[in-house]
Amino acid sequence: MSGAVTFQDFYDEGARVAVQTTQPLDRVLTYRAPEGGCWQGAFVEVPLGPRKVLGVVWGPGEGGFDAAKLRSVIRVLDVPPMRGEMAEFLARVGDYTLTPMNHMLRLATRAPGLTNPPSMRKIYRLGHGEPDRMTDARARVLDVLEEHGGLAFTLGELAEMAGVSTSVVKGLVKKGAVAEEESPRDLPFPRLDPSAPGKALSEDQARAAEVLRTGIEAGTFGATLLRGVTGSGKTECYLEAVAATLAKGRQALVLLPEIALTSEFLKRIEERFGARPAEWHSGVTMTERRRVWRMVAEGGAQVVVGARSALYLPFRDIGLIVVDEEHDSSYKQDEGVLYSARDMAVLRGSINGAQVVLASATPSLETWANAEAGKYQRVDLTTRFGEAVMPEMRSIDMREEALPGNRWISPSLAGAVRARVENGEQALLFLNRRGYAPVTICRACGNQIGCDHCDARMVEHRFLKRLVCHQCGETKPIPEVCPSCEAEGRLAPVGPGVERLAEEVAEVFPDARVAVLSSDLFASARALKAQIELIAGGGADIIIGTQIVAKGHNFPLLTLVGVIDADLGLQGSDLRAAERTFQLIRQVAGRAGRGAVRGTALLQTFQPEHPVIRAILSGDEEGFWKAEADERRHAGVPPYGRMAGIVISAPDLDAAMGLGNALARAEAPLLNIGAQVFGPAPAPIARVRGRHRVRLLVKAPKAAPLQPALRDWLARVPIKGDIRLSVDIDPQSFY
Ligand code: ADP
Ligand code: ZN
Repeated sequence: MSGAVTFQDFYDEGARVAVQTTQPLDRVLTYRAPEGGCWQGAFVEVPLGPRKVLGVVWGPGEGGFDAAKLRSVIRVLDVPPMRGEMAEFLARVGDYTLTPMNHMLRLATRAPGLTNPPSMRKIYRLGHGEPDRMTDARARVLDVLEEHGGLAFTLGELAEMAGVSTSVVKGLVKKGAVAEEESPRDLPFPRLDPSAPGKALSEDQARAAEVLRTGIEAGTFGATLLRGVTGSGKTECYLEAVAATLAKGRQALVLLPEIALTSEFLKRIEERFGARPAEWHSGVTMTERRRVWRMVAEGGAQVVVGARSALYLPFRDIGLIVVDEEHDSSYKQDEGVLYSARDMAVLRGSINGAQVVLASATPSLETWANAEAGKYQRVDLTTRFGEAVMPEMRSIDMREEALPGNRWISPSLAGAVRARVENGEQALLFLNRRGYAPVTICRACGNQIGCDHCDARMVEHRFLKRLVCHQCGETKPIPEVCPSCEAEGRLAPVGPGVERLAEEVAEVFPDARVAVLSSDLFASARALKAQIELIAGGGADIIIGTQIVAKGHNFPLLTLVGVIDADLGLQGSDLRAAERTFQLIRQVAGRAGRGAVRGTALLQTFQPEHPVIRAILSGDEEGFWKAEADERRHAGVPPYGRMAGIVISAPDLDAAMGLGNALARAEAPLLNIGAQVFGPAPAPIARVRGRHRVRLLVKAPKAAPLQPALRDWLARVPIKGDIRLSVDIDPQSFY
């Protein structure tokens, strides 16, 4: 399918139509249009063998089949037909990522119950009555309702979210504390009012907002890098673009990298526009997802705030896509369809005549280079909003600190922390390692405890009292004896994780209140949010955190950031190691001093003269990007060359290697476009979940037609048995 497809055709009853389904078939199926006919793009239910499956009317059916044998479309679903732009978007993402259309269609229909007819149903929201007595279970139900500010739930959802039986909810209904209502499914979202004035903008902000507004007014595609340190007021700027979009009657999508950030953001939208927008991510209930999907299609939702998969929602008229923290690696989907939501946002914007705003304090080199090349506009916010300024940055040379083994807080850092805490301020110790210790070693035989299914060491999580494999999630109790030599009591942790760092902090600062922020320590997004609020409110003196703290949370009392191991990300051969380290440490450092007091960031390092460490300290971001760009250009790697990673996995190493070698021999189509093939070689993590993994890497010049060549190449070597092959265009990780 190409951009020339028009989705305006109507098929009369009995006409042949081609239907694309979500089933694992490599072609469209031909049916007859149902009674009453159907539009191109209609969502339909069709018979497939004994089953009924979901599909989309994709075009005219082929004439080759015996008309008498053709089955009919069962019915047309009561949702707006897929728009031509959406079909084109799916086709182009599929082409780019080498993903078959049935998978793409699955991404675009991730709303359960789409095939259900509209109807009434019972919903539950906060009532006005008081329960006669409060139990734990009842309090949890009321908590859930209060937390979701006025939203309604079905009985099952409410009971599940509160972790109670449905009879608890029914009991509260009897007392009037929970209201039960009959409601049509899928109500529109409350209208947002774009005419309410926003905050008075600084000069910088006003200029940036004007650039964005001009794009929206034009109603055409354009991409803009909105760069500014954390706290410089980027969000206020793009909210102006949202307002302009709504004023034009178009829809806006804001992508955030982390679910934990959404609730704070929803509040900001509500304050600015007088109502809550639609929300789309894995934490949203099924009923609500279906509502969002339908309302986005019908125009009953003006703004969606969500995770990367919101890109595949059927917007009726999208005019703006914001990708906040655009450098964040979570925008790359690394399972199933491997796509970069940042890049696909730009594609969707170009198809829909929408503006795309990429916001970051530390943009990806890809985006920086596109701005340099003039493909994207760029606007910079140069100062922090209000009084706050970027923190003072210094290194602590660990070669000169007297630090015993199994200790990670240098005397210099400890002194700085003490001074802040005594002053009633907060200090953050940053270590990007979950758990207690990354390695458990046997002091008798030297064995390191590994995962039984993966080629990875198990990480001790003392909080869980277990060893955890960070590759596959497998856990086991911490053994008493070494599994290898059976020596008793000789297993010892090596190296620090945040839990172990917390122990050291407790010893060094016995009176300080300590809070640990690590994604695995919280059972729910809600519990994590509560911890973040506790910290923001001053409920802790010292915060210990993994990279989760780098993502946009606002801690006004925080004035010192100590990076425990600034060298950590610089090891390894990943082409983005320098870029990632630079981004992560600059982001974390940016947490210090958002209030009136200037912050300090201290980096513990064994190599203070390393160019990346020097660039972080000097704050010369342009200099860093230029140097990094030069290196990548020389090496012919992204964004100045193209790459595709091929991962082959099989229960049997020889089978995986065999396919890898066959591919390497069949390289002709790739050589023809000037590409090179490297490998096969065992992947850096050579075994995951019991499957052996082998990698190949394809490198191609920037302008080479990589996808058609890859398709041709892969078609030449058949895949047999239990071997899996995945293609990752523009790979971000190389494990
Ligand atoms: P960023 O998105 O760059 O991190 P934000 O837009 O979140 O920055 O702004 C940081 C803080 O400053 C927020 O609390 C925000 O409300 C406040 N702020 C930003 N711009 C203004 C403004 N023009 N007037 C008042 N407060 C502002
Ligand atoms: Zn494992």
